Amino acid sequence: MKQTLIASLITLVAGTLAAAPAAAQTTLIHAGELLKSADAKVLKAQTIEIKEGRVQGLHQGYVDAAELGLKNAKVVDLKDKFVLPGMVDLHVHLTFERDPKANPHRMLNEVEADQALRAVAYLRKTVEAGFTTVRDLGGNNKVIFPLQRAVKQGTLVGPRIIAAGEAVTPTGGHGDMHGYRQEILDAFAPRMGVCDGADDCTRAVRELVKGGAEVIKITATGGVLSNTKAGLNQQLTDAELAAIVKTAHNLGRPVTAHAHGAGGIAAALRAGVDSVEHGSYLNEETIGLFKRTGAYLVPTLLAGVTVTEEVNNNPALPAAIVEKVKTVGPVVKDSFQQALAKKVNIAFGTDSGVSRHGDNAKEFALLVDYGMSPRQALATSLTHAPKVLNMEHEVGKLAPGYYADVIALDKSPLNDIDQLTAVRFVMQQGKVIRHHEQD
Ligand SMILES: [Zn+2]
Repeated sequence: MKQTLIASLITLVAGTLAAAPAAAQTTLIHAGELLKSADAKVLKAQTIEIKEGRVQGLHQGYVDAAELGLKNAKVVDLKDKFVLPGMVDLHVHLTFERDPKANPHRMLNEVEADQALRAVAYLRKTVEAGFTTVRDLGGNNKVIFPLQRAVKQGTLVGPRIIAAGEAVTPTGGHGDMHGYRQEILDAFAPRMGVCDGADDCTRAVRELVKGGAEVIKITATGGVLSNTKAGLNQQLTDAELAAIVKTAHNLGRPVTAHAHGAGGIAAALRAGVDSVEHGSYLNEETIGLFKRTGAYLVPTLLAGVTVTEEVNNNPALPAAIVEKVKTVGPVVKDSFQQALAKKVNIAFGTDSGVSRHGDNAKEFALLVDYGMSPRQALATSLTHAPKVLNMEHEVGKLAPGYYADVIALDKSPLNDIDQLTAVRFVMQQGKVIRHHEQD
């Protein structure tokens, strides 16, 4: 009896010892060149000290564990690399990817798990491309929130996700479903964000927040890729917009508006949205509103280029979509350049899912082509996007207290912006996701 008791005590003590947390491991990254933030000077031969997923300190030269008074540390050798913070993309759709060759009716026999399983690969491609934080703007709640949880719990490899869930849209609006008879739409169309009238839109925002939305995405105007000839003008009324923004802000959620037509952009900005996605048609009035409100423009240039290419190569696209692509495509560059000239706040977003997941960094070349300096382009992702997320003290910079989201390239993107499309190393929150010399 006594012996059994002692034996169990020993087992108990041994168990406790085994379960005691190991002293948190320190990782030291030796960076040949380091850009701490989009506006910093490039530093040579630096050490980044990382503990418990966050940057602990930055040191001149290649420092080892002993010099920091540590018993040991894991060292990551990036002495021949250019190191910078993980990138941020404000507009992705991780639950799908446009595939011109896919059976157009596949959504009729699929369930949410089909989307989720495809998304596993999209998440990995996104983070391996160096995007360690993304905002997902409009996707099935039953898919995006489980994906977000899986990344948080470490079950899935993927970027940190800030998610909107379903978009708020009027009946027949860009975020509603089109192209099938009503009984079929009713069977699979998520109705949560569909609303008509100020009170009903208040209800929609509340339901979305209850369902987990961290940001409210609205479709303020028609959209290019919805199969309807309803154009690109304002779709939510002024009263609906006001109700949505007031409710969301009272519940502590920012609002971002998908908007193409100038009238709809102006209405959304007057209602107080925090950012505008696409912003295809800008004019003096809308630019004035951006300046007055301080709202951010997320231009998603890559989406425009991708659908324009698709129109030229995919004869199966519905006429309603082709017509809108041909109208909106040519004006995007001019609008972007007006915004840039007038110093509108511009933040990085790609609409990936329209383009391929993992190609997000192609947006940088377009930003530079259309007039930004490489440093300005980088700042849209590392400086401005974190501000839109209210995460400017956590991501976009390598400084003590920030998440240890670190990427590395062969050469400086400040001389060749396309280097950002060839990421060689990715660490997210202290965990190495990718370390390839080349691919
Ligand atoms: Zn989108």
